[in-house]
Amino acid sequence: MIRRLLLLCLCLPWAAAAQMPASRVVSITFDDLPYASVPSENNAQLRSMTTRLLQHLQVDQVPAVGFVNESKLYRDGILDAERVDLLRSWIQAGFELGNHTYSHPSLNRAPLDAFEADVLRGEAVTRALMQSEGRSLRWFRHPYLHLGKTPDVRAAFQDFLAAHGYTVAPVTVNNSEWVFAVAYSRAQAQGDQDAARRIGEAYIPYMEAEFARSEQLALDLFGRAIPHVVVLHANSLNADHFGALAAMLKQRGYRFISLDAALRDSAYAMQPGFSGIEGESWLDRWARHAGLRPMQQPAVPGFVTQWAGPAAYHGY
Ligand SMILES: [Zn+2]
Repeated sequence: MIRRLLLLCLCLPWAAAAQMPASRVVSITFDDLPYASVPSENNAQLRSMTTRLLQHLQVDQVPAVGFVNESKLYRDGILDAERVDLLRSWIQAGFELGNHTYSHPSLNRAPLDAFEADVLRGEAVTRALMQSEGRSLRWFRHPYLHLGKTPDVRAAFQDFLAAHGYTVAPVTVNNSEWVFAVAYSRAQAQGDQDAARRIGEAYIPYMEAEFARSEQLALDLFGRAIPHVVVLHANSLNADHFGALAAMLKQRGYRFISLDAALRDSAYAMQPGFSGIEGESWLDRWARHAGLRPMQQPAVPGFVTQWAGPAAYHGY
């Protein structure tokens, strides 16, 4: 009996280590602030969504960055102070804000000069807010992860970002969380709480499959785990379910780290190669450039796509 206990004691740490590499770390980012999919865009609901999401992030000590589309701060062409306050709440809760353009155009579609003008238009409020809290605005996230269709556009835009003090925020775990979020907010708007519950429950295993895919791709490419960066959105789905998502990630052995810390890894010194495939993560682009063929992304369950409706095919 004693021998068996001893064996157990010796073996368990090894078993645990095999399942949970200590090096699993992820930086969490949220796009489309102050809000993406919500059942209603009235300011009281947006405040509630923001408060609940920020509480999750604080409880789980997630050093998140939120990327802003300032066009959503305006109602009937007038800057809405309550919506600006939503952004202020992110900063005052200790989180950093970045620029995600003013109106969410695609660098694969818009002319470069128009796109750059939209980037500058998109920083007016956010830069002032960050400065008033003693912070500087320094991150940029491409809408749709569209990096530009030609090497010339990419290089020119990179120069533009550098000249304006921006660092690009890459993504390694791209995903269809936004499809779940559209479905979830539509179910809630229609008062179908049972459908909303089922969509929320399907969200977590779907994201776990996305993380498993990215972990494997990093292993195939680098022969090791890398610090991941995941893109999510500021929506009701995460306001209600980020706690469950964080629990799943912790269960997989993840710690939450800042975007700065993730980008210190040498993997991020690689440029995202041009693949011709729109909206791919940096990891997929690196892998394709190295001759690997990334596996398909996990499927979104049919009932979720149905609830999302036509929006599911447009992308965020
Ligand atoms: Zn976006």
